[in-house]
Amino acid sequence: MNPLIMIIEDEEAIVTMLKYNLEKEGFDVCSCADGNEALKEIKVRAPALVLLDWMLPGMSGTDICKQIRYDHSLRNMPVIMLTARGEEADKVKGLSVGADDYMTKPFSVPELIARIKALLRRIQPAEAPGELVFEDIKMDLNSRRVTRGDRFIHLGPTEFRLLQYLMERPRHVFPREVLLKEVWGADIHVELRTVDVHVRRLRKAMNEGGEKDLIRTVRAAGYAIDTDPNGGSEDNDPNC
Ligand code: CA
Repeated sequence: MNPLIMIIEDEEAIVTMLKYNLEKEGFDVCSCADGNEALKEIKVRAPALVLLDWMLPGMSGTDICKQIRYDHSLRNMPVIMLTARGEEADKVKGLSVGADDYMTKPFSVPELIARIKALLRRIQPAEAPGELVFEDIKMDLNSRRVTRGDRFIHLGPTEFRLLQYLMERPRHVFPREVLLKEVWGADIHVELRTVDVHVRRLRKAMNEGGEKDLIRTVRAAGYAIDTDPNGGSEDNDPNC
C-alpha cells in the first residue's frame, strides 16, 4: 500500500499539479478544498501526511493545524503548510501552530517531494508509543486494545501477554520453555503444554474472522509470529 497524502487546498490548479506529481512518485493522493470539511476528511481517510494550505474557505489552515495537534488520534500526523505568504513572521506562525514544515508558493515540486519523503522517513520508525504492529494486527499497550484490520479482538490476560511477547520480536521462534518463563513468570509451576493450550486460544481469537494465520508453530522448537505460518520446510500443527 502506498502512503496516502491528503492535499487540503482550494486552488484547483495546485491540487491537479500536486496530484499528478505525487502519484508519479508512487503516493496515493486525495484532496479536500474546504476548511470545514478537512478535519472530518483527515479522520476518515487517515493519511500518512497532510499538505495544508494556509488560506481556505471555512476554517483556516493554521486553525486546522492546531486542531490536528489537539486531537489525540491525529497528534502525530505530519503536516506541511503551503502558503502564498513569504514573510518570516508567517513562517514562524505556521511552525508555532504545529506544522512540521512550511513551503511558500510558488514552490519547487522536487523540493516539496524531498521534504515529504524526509518527513515520512522521520516518523516511520516511531510508531505511536505503546503500540505494536505486525501485518494487520495492532496492539495498543496503553488501552490494551487488540485489533485485526477493523475487527476488535477480545483476549484473556495470558493471551494478551503471549501475543505481546511474540509481537515484540516478530519472526523469532521462541521455545515453549522461554515463553513459559517470560509470559507466566519463572516462579510459577506450570506444565509446558499449558503454553500450547494458550497458543491455541490465541490463534482461535486471532483468526476467528477468517484471517490468515500469523502464528507459526515450529514442532519441537516453539512458536513465532510470522507472515509464513508454515515457516518454509518446518511442520505446522494447526491444533497447537
Ligand atoms: Ca488557498
